[in-house]
Amino acid sequence: MPGAVRSVGPRPWREAPIDRDRLIRAIGMAVEMPEPGIYRVRSETAASETYWVNMRDEDVPLCDCGDTTFRDTLCKHALACLLYHDDPRAWHAVMRVIQRAFHSGGLGLTIL
Ligand SMILES: [Zn+2]
Repeated sequence: MPGAVRSVGPRPWREAPIDRDRLIRAIGMAVEMPEPGIYRVRSETAASETYWVNMRDEDVPLCDCGDTTFRDTLCKHALACLLYHDDPRAWHAVMRVIQRAFHSGGLGLTIL
């Protein structure tokens, strides 16, 4: 029902803050979409491990990892799917991370 308040379960991701560290880990993750709205994301630490993300409800990505299941956060796997889909909010967050790193000298770039 539109406008209904969710008392339990994952929050619509647009209401959740994007965690910087999870976002950085999401960049470059291998994402496949074997069927519409269903994604397979390869673990960054063990390539043989995969996580499944259901984004059929675009407001509430569901992943089978611990972050989503136990901590109700927007996990790095869901973030990887949003980046894969060129989601503007996710990419805007990436650009903020790059800008901050650039201004703090963290990218090791030199302005000529
Ligand atoms: Zn996850």
